[in-house]
Amino acid sequence: MLSMRHLSKAYHTDTIKTQALQPFDLTIEQGEFVAIIGPSGSGKTTFLNITGLLEDFCEGSYELDGVNVEHLSDKAKSKLRNEKVGFIFQSFNLIPELTLYDNVDMPLRYRKLSSKERHERIMDALGKVGLASRRDHYPAQLSGGQQQRVAIARAIAGKPSFLLADEPTGNLDSKMAEGIMALLEDINAQGTSIVMVTHDPNQAARAQRVIEIRDGILSEGKRIEKAIA
Ligand code: ADP
Ligand code: ADP
Repeated sequence: MLSMRHLSKAYHTDTIKTQALQPFDLTIEQGEFVAIIGPSGSGKTTFLNITGLLEDFCEGSYELDGVNVEHLSDKAKSKLRNEKVGFIFQSFNLIPELTLYDNVDMPLRYRKLSSKERHERIMDALGKVGLASRRDHYPAQLSGGQQQRVAIARAIAGKPSFLLADEPTGNLDSKMAEGIMALLEDINAQGTSIVMVTHDPNQAARAQRVIEIRDGILSEGKRIEKAIA
């Protein structure tokens, strides 16, 4: 789970201060599926980047799976990020020169895993997204929907607690978008928490919780109790 208390973020450029996020409290339990909505420039990406330890916050405290991130060194933060968080982006962010297999391997290289364990995780993740047979292909040989599936494989191969997705279907047609949503719901059902920025009200409606950000102010929408299967 993650717990943020009185967290806030401001950017300072020259003499200009932009309060990207006003102080807020937020707890996300293990296994939740949270949608983040709000207009452009409202602070959604900033929120996601702070959550994923890609960016520092200014005031307040943040605990990720019981670890207070405030006083961690950059190295310790990278390690925690690598172990706990998987990222998915609108533009897939795959490395064109690497095969699907090597793309999924990228974040695992920084982990203390045996090569056997790494191989199993890569094939397992590629299998989960239905692309194991394409392991030696390159991203450009795939459709957009398939590329995003590889990005999801890369994100889940590390067995993260949290999957953070920044408009994961923003570059996809509605059919491929539906496939990606179904895949994310599947991953969530297996216990991985998902925090997803989306502009699509239908997608937001499928999350258990909707958090809206406007002018840096977080407010909570509906909250649905998850049915225990
Ligand atoms: P969203 O993802 O909702 O479009 P962002 O989190 O990207 O919003 O941006 C929130 C606010 O913070 C905007 O006013 C944006 O201009 C500002 N901002 C974001 N990143 C930076 C940065 N690196 N330096 C200065 N200002 C930034
Ligand atoms: P999806 O199943 O994700 O909807 P498409 O219907 O777009 O994929 O693609 C069907 C097939 O065509 C896939 O096997 C894919 O690998 C291939 N394909 C799609 N786009 C390209 C491309 N730009 N270059 C090479 N192959 C492609």
